[in-house]
Amino acid sequence: MATAPAIADLADRPPRHSGILPDERTPLAGLSRAELAAALAGLGVPERARRMRTAQLWHWTYVRGVRSFEAMTNIGKELRAALAARFTLDRPQVIAEEISTDGTRKWLLRLDARSDAERAPAVECVFIPEEDRGTLCVSSQVGCTLSCTFCHTGTQPLVRNLTASEIVAQMLVARDALADWPASGEAAPGQRRITNVVLMGMGEPLYNFDNVARAIDIIADGEGLSLSKRRITLSTSGVVPMIERCGREIGCALAVSLHATRDEIRDRLVPLNRKYPIAELMDACRRYPGLSNARRITFEYVMLKGVNDEPAHARELVRLVAGIPAKINLIPFNPWPGAPYECSDWDRIEQFAEIVNRAGYASPVRTPRGRDIMAACGQLKSASERIRAGLRGRVPPAPAQAGGGSSGGQIRGLGSGGS
Ligand code: SAH
Ligand code: SF4
Repeated sequence: MATAPAIADLADRPPRHSGILPDERTPLAGLSRAELAAALAGLGVPERARRMRTAQLWHWTYVRGVRSFEAMTNIGKELRAALAARFTLDRPQVIAEEISTDGTRKWLLRLDARSDAERAPAVECVFIPEEDRGTLCVSSQVGCTLSCTFCHTGTQPLVRNLTASEIVAQMLVARDALADWPASGEAAPGQRRITNVVLMGMGEPLYNFDNVARAIDIIADGEGLSLSKRRITLSTSGVVPMIERCGREIGCALAVSLHATRDEIRDRLVPLNRKYPIAELMDACRRYPGLSNARRITFEYVMLKGVNDEPAHARELVRLVAGIPAKINLIPFNPWPGAPYECSDWDRIEQFAEIVNRAGYASPVRTPRGRDIMAACGQLKSASERIRAGLRGRVPPAPAQAGGGSSGGQIRGLGSGGS
């Protein structure tokens, strides 16, 4: 077997739009059914056949997970060639895969540059396996504009919004890597590895509303990736004017990054609070379309030592959410280099959880996952400086199974994920 190239070399490889490997084809994944039908019309497919052809393309792309038009055996050779000339089924390039000792996996994906002048950006995506579920944490932006002071992503300026295609592609890459394609016989029904998707990776999804909405519609499509909207959770830092639209137009589960019960504290943690203070945020939550006891809002609350972790804060939190079908997710702060906070002590977190729980709200403490590979909540960052500085010179170990008992996270340098 060939030795894997060093990760720094992979990170330095030219992207597809570098002018060295030009690719003007449009990614097929991420197009809506209507767009696919229009594309087929453009290729001369008669109207009566377009619906069937669209359904076939949809099935090959999202149920079989094929990566070449050649594999689409029920589509004629000529049409396959015409499709292959205009569209691509290539995945974003996987620059590196890291596997935590707890089985969490993180992929660093190279996206296409928008022009020859732009350096190809990279984005991270994380899979968290648990006994009864497998959660894929997906990014919606490269970087973030909001600069929450406890969040590593917030230290990376916004590079750009992801397209719907790039959001959907994270799921395709993960299904490839996890051998999780149902119709290829890889994953039997009921044994799927990705059971939930959370938009909790890099970026603020409600600042990229249209692309996120389109991507969620594709991920939830019952004849394709087929993940119910109840199993898709969008997390927002509190973009109040978009919350109602999120419920009405997307209809997925909502998580709100609350993190503080008083404006003077939240202003410091989530600077967006100065624009949309807590009272307005809670009002928008109260009005979230489709809210019921079966469809609760998750309030996320990061536990920061000496900042927001007092018993009085827990009692205020209970008062704030009164009347809203809610659960409170307590997140132990995940550290990152240079972070100005520490995680609350464990007994403090338990005491906090106990107060919230006694008031009648589920208050699970989120087990930190993938901290050793910087894959836990709020640790993602994909600035190219970090790829270089962090990984240069590290020799990727031989591929190993998740949870394989090594003492540290594992890094693998990978070749192109595209076909
Ligand atoms: N931008 C969105 C979604 C991405 S962040 C949002 O802010 O909600 C996903 C979750 O991780 C949010 O609840 C965020 O507040 C939390 N988070 C960010 N940095 C963290 C850190 N260092 N430790 C623990 N949680 C963090
Ligand atoms: Fe952006 Fe969310 Fe991080 Fe805040 S917590 S900086 S909104 S990714």
